[in-house]
Amino acid sequence: MNSSLNAARRRWELDEARTDVVDVLVVGLGATGAGAALDAASRGLSVAAVDAHDLAFGTSRWSSKLIHGGLRYLASGQVGVAWESAVERDALLRFTAPHLVAAHPYLLPLTPDVARGQAATLMAGYRLGDALRAAAGTPRRLLPGPSRLAAGRALTLAPSLRADGLRGALLSWDGRVVDDARLVVALARTAAAHGARILTRCRALALTRDGARVRDELTGDEFDIRARAVINATGVWAGELTPSVALRPSRGTHLVLRPGALGALRAGLHVPIPGERARFALVLPQADGRVYAGLTDEPLGGPIPDVPEAPESDVTFLLEVVGTALDRPLSRADVAGAFAGLRPLVGTADAVDAPASPDGRTADLSRRHAVLRSPDGVVTVVGGKLTTYRRMAEDAVDAACPHARPSRTARLPLVGAGPVRPGTPGRLARRYGSEAWAVRDLMRADPALAEPVALGITRAELVWAVRHEGALDAGDLLDRRTRIGLVPEDRAAALPAAEAALAYS
Ligand SMILES: Cc1cc2nc3c(=O)[nH]c(=O)nc-3n(C[C@H](O)[C@H](O)[C@H](O)COP(=O)(O)OP(=O)(O)OC[C@H]3O[C@@H](n4cnc5c(N)ncnc54)[C@H](O)[C@@H]3O)c2cc1C
Repeated sequence: MNSSLNAARRRWELDEARTDVVDVLVVGLGATGAGAALDAASRGLSVAAVDAHDLAFGTSRWSSKLIHGGLRYLASGQVGVAWESAVERDALLRFTAPHLVAAHPYLLPLTPDVARGQAATLMAGYRLGDALRAAAGTPRRLLPGPSRLAAGRALTLAPSLRADGLRGALLSWDGRVVDDARLVVALARTAAAHGARILTRCRALALTRDGARVRDELTGDEFDIRARAVINATGVWAGELTPSVALRPSRGTHLVLRPGALGALRAGLHVPIPGERARFALVLPQADGRVYAGLTDEPLGGPIPDVPEAPESDVTFLLEVVGTALDRPLSRADVAGAFAGLRPLVGTADAVDAPASPDGRTADLSRRHAVLRSPDGVVTVVGGKLTTYRRMAEDAVDAACPHARPSRTARLPLVGAGPVRPGTPGRLARRYGSEAWAVRDLMRADPALAEPVALGITRAELVWAVRHEGALDAGDLLDRRTRIGLVPEDRAAALPAAEAALAYS
């Protein structure tokens, strides 16, 4: 079946979903829900999957984009979580999304704040992480091992580091996805290629063991989708549909720094947080030239917003911490934008082994996922992380459909994972993989579509997103199919091009 998602397909599949009974209804189309739709559809089950907004509307687009090997979980004794992360990273790097996920280098600068003993412990940790890599079967060619660099070499990779007192740096490697929202789009399209009905702008109002009451957010129509099993994959919002699921959301903020704010940065940075022994701020250079700096971890009380805001206190904190490692402090003028996401941390002892820490710090809560069956028979899958979406999806489908055949997704390539044609520009190859030629063909057929909109993104990519990636409005195009919208002035400048692209549906 075709993997293309667009307004016309949504219309006809919505009509079918009103009358058919499907094997599985998945609610929520972040990485977990899109992964569950793919897992179920590729086992031969009939699937409908709904999201109240858009693909990747929730936490999945606000991550640091790391495909972690799980080193930090080892440090806190969570060996099972660490192993699962290393195995899932291997699957993404080698089999399922080699076009979207690649190794990225990180430097931990050995500043006077990092004692020699601490540096030795950190290096031992990196070596342990490298052993996990090897045990998971990931070749060094795809993920190099750690090493110690002299100060001069560290400064060539990160010229903005403060040279004064720099003893060198620890170099480590981990996986990174080019864009978390693109991973979700690839999952949803691959699920669609296996026959799943992917229905955005459809809000589940109430769940039962045999389906959901759903509202089409474009028309206001309410109807039922009937299903033999229901999976709630609504992340941080899961408790709104299944009240027995208790979560302790935690806000994580990233800054978007202007290209060049940290010079010609060729590696990410782990910047020690003053006063904390094993916690680091992250500096993450992006392929589009922007640099993200994160990451806070603050418990969030009260109602859960659709789009969380990054408070000024988080911005100031991050500027200060990152500035400690640089030769010139960062200022508010270096910040082009900021974004925040809510971690759906599982916080009840009865749900999973995630006891609340005595001081209530969410940073100490387990990143393990939970699959919970509520009294009404709905299966909720929550917690975990982007890296382990596939395992979460498999566990959820196993629980919801115990008689289904085994999961196939560990080796199932996502759309775009095939060979890239020679001569394909690197930027397109990293975002579209084997489909890059088709995006290029759009530009060749109509040179006006080769015009750049922002960050090197062309009008053709917007048209491609409308025709094949399920973008229904300008927000989908600017905020999720591309990330132009992370910087408000870039978004405003690109809005007319996005609106024009919608006419190509
Ligand atoms: C700041 C931050 C940084 C992170 N960095 C990393 C990282 O680098 N690497 C990593 O592996 N993990 C990371 N994580 C964790 C990871 O991002 C999340 O665990 C993961 O994205 C959660 O995905 P999800 O699909 O479960 O939830 P979501 O992505 O939130 O998806 C839930 C979906 O449900 C939909 N929904 C809600 N209510 C309804 C309803 N009633 N009807 C229909 N749909 C509904 C929402 O619109 C949303 O699209 C990070 C998390 C945060 C917050």
